[in-house]
Amino acid sequence: MTKSYLKSILFLVSILSISCAKKEEIIKIPKAIPFAIVIHGGAGYITKETMSADKQKKYNNALKKALNAGYKTLADGGTSIDAVQNTLTILEDSPLFNAGKGAVFDNQGKNKMDASIMDGNTLNAGAVTGISNVKNPILLARMVMDSSKHVFLSGKGAEIFAEQHHLKFENDAYFYTKKQHNYLLKVQKRERDAKLKVAISTTKIHTLENSKYATVGAVALDKNGNIAAGTSTGGLTNKKYGRIGDSPIIGAGTYANNTTCGVSCTGTGEYFIRTLAAHEVSNLIQYKKLTAKEAVKEVIHNQINTLGGKGGMIVLDKYGNIAWDFNTKGMFRAYKKSTGENEITFFGMVRDSLEIN
Ligand code: ASP
Repeated sequence: MTKSYLKSILFLVSILSISCAKKEEIIKIPKAIPFAIVIHGGAGYITKETMSADKQKKYNNALKKALNAGYKTLADGGTSIDAVQNTLTILEDSPLFNAGKGAVFDNQGKNKMDASIMDGNTLNAGAVTGISNVKNPILLARMVMDSSKHVFLSGKGAEIFAEQHHLKFENDAYFYTKKQHNYLLKVQKRERDAKLKVAISTTKIHTLENSKYATVGAVALDKNGNIAAGTSTGGLTNKKYGRIGDSPIIGAGTYANNTTCGVSCTGTGEYFIRTLAAHEVSNLIQYKKLTAKEAVKEVIHNQINTLGGKGGMIVLDKYGNIAWDFNTKGMFRAYKKSTGENEITFFGMVRDSLEIN
């Protein structure tokens, strides 16, 4: 073989491989994503500068434990609704998050919790609001979905339903965390100070009260292509008058639909209710043909932001694409996919509107 003959063969091979690569770029064959899970532990003033290495480690371990539990459920062939439930139960049992054991205190010094869960396959859903002493509110929400003809139960009635279904109760001491109690005292002091200085606007009081969120949420896609989403919270510190946030409201804080995606939100609930944030993301994907990333960006950075709201959300679409975004300093968040990709991260604005395909 002559040198020039070899050269022309090499030339042909390189032309061929370039044209093949181009073709691959044009025809984006979606990689099959058998299953995936994405979780959050709340958005808010979460910065590297204000968080000790020890604290970062604690949050990392707690998120990892919850994520792996949900992932294992999916890997073992379990349903997305079970994966969401198993993940959120672990986060509720941790004192680090504003849900279950670590729930914030309301104005009366009580823990009044909210939770919701939705099955994207059947569009069945269950939710509870203003409940006390139920160890795992997400289990109660699931019970409402599976064992009642209702979707949304509140307060005493929901607690009676929990008792009748033998859910575990804990006394007030179980739900006491020094951190959340101190935060209540701080917020109440700020409120008193603000009342003295009438000059401060109500919007400002609102912002002060809401500077920290640590609600938990999860969205999963199982091997059968079914999506589920769930959210659990203690709501906002110092909340009054039986205030209900977005977390237990289907379409606001939680939504799942196999034809589009699953969503769980965290932040100032009032704004997520007014924009029906979770359902809005689904609508934007379904009717405006936006990607999950575009839809999340539109809702957080346009709709919520315009109203003055703060928070974030996680989304998992029917193809297994994960998107998350927030307009706060950070958001505890993590995902794991059957492709092997996974991440646990807290701090923000570096890569907002992330989409992992
Ligand atoms: N969204 C919750 C609420 O408004 C609070 C949070 O996300 O931490 O009740």
